[in-house]
Amino acid sequence: MRIRPERLIADLRELATIGKFETGVDRPAFSRDDMRARTWLRDKLGAAGLSARIDDAGNVYGQMTKAARAVLVGSHTDTVPKGGWLDGALGVIYGLEMARCFAENGLVNGMGLDVISFQDEEGTYLSLYGSRTFCDEDVTSEVAVARGQDGTTLDDAINGAGIRGNAPCRLDRQRHLAYFEAHIEQGPRLETTGTKIGVVTAIVGIRSYRIAFHGQADHAGTTPMAMRRDAGAAALAFGAALAEKFRSLGSPESVWNVGSVTFRPGAANVVPDEAQLVFQFRDSSLDILDRLEQAAHATAGECASAYSATFDLTRIFEKQPTAMASRLVGLIEQAAAASATPALAMPSGAGHDAMTLAKYIPSAMLFVPSIGGRSHHVSEDTAESDIILGAQVMLDAIALFARSPDRA
Ligand SMILES: [Zn+2]
Repeated sequence: MRIRPERLIADLRELATIGKFETGVDRPAFSRDDMRARTWLRDKLGAAGLSARIDDAGNVYGQMTKAARAVLVGSHTDTVPKGGWLDGALGVIYGLEMARCFAENGLVNGMGLDVISFQDEEGTYLSLYGSRTFCDEDVTSEVAVARGQDGTTLDDAINGAGIRGNAPCRLDRQRHLAYFEAHIEQGPRLETTGTKIGVVTAIVGIRSYRIAFHGQADHAGTTPMAMRRDAGAAALAFGAALAEKFRSLGSPESVWNVGSVTFRPGAANVVPDEAQLVFQFRDSSLDILDRLEQAAHATAGECASAYSATFDLTRIFEKQPTAMASRLVGLIEQAAAASATPALAMPSGAGHDAMTLAKYIPSAMLFVPSIGGRSHHVSEDTAESDIILGAQVMLDAIALFARSPDRA
């Protein structure tokens, strides 16, 4: 089966005209343009021979009804405000093109291909709302408090989109044997290594923390250095020492960030009595995450005592790493190797709908290179030749899977 490059690119370009903003698109979940794009997609899927509809969460789902079992292919068509034209759209239009290939060439081993565009992956109201709803997770309490930046509630957004009362679409584990999601890399690794395909091994886990150092406010001119309880100095030492420790204890994939520092009272002539840092780190190994957390605790203790301060360290956010199905990872590698396409096994540092699906069915992700590593911005782009290559490799991997879906 061969994808038709001109059709794939034409659909991507056409979708990018809906909500077009400069060279990117502005289609936050449930906005007028987001819903226009979803209606457009529903009609395209219908024209490709799928039974397609928009459900009560805003997901667009196209089903190949003549098959009893299917591979599910998709991503999301909502964007961040003033975002790029490929984030999410790429994986959805891959699904549309592959569904056409199946329609033209016939089912593979009796297996069909269903297509989905999940709603609000980007978290305009509630991150991964569509995929979590599709997988029948209970999001009621989160929906109740979910609001957009302008204060609109998710409930109002659903009403405004005119989808209230639509029938829900749900994951069917008898039918959906695997989930494949293609996405732009959103980072520079493929480009800098000259690789065309990223084979995602896992989506990294995230832990975020707030640390507060407590000292004593004193006059910065009259209090001798040795007598100070300097929360600010402890916090600065902590920030520097943390990077040092993480470099030696983390994996080559580990990343971390100190995102905010605040001193109180915040004047040049007052020794700070409180200093807060907010930081996070990511890795695909639970062991590494634990090791970095222990290092943060130990480092905080050392830095506090060096400046006669105390500290509280609080974990404020946690997301577990999600492994992709190793068999599917192997099939993507096999498909890339068969066409002599250079591929790189790599973790995803960003979250994706595949994180949700992977909890229920074997799931895999394929990345294509991002020019300059740019994303979530109108400058986001990928060479057309790379878009085309990625689609063919993914279709080949799906065909390999369809020929022997039950092999463990
Ligand atoms: Zn995305």
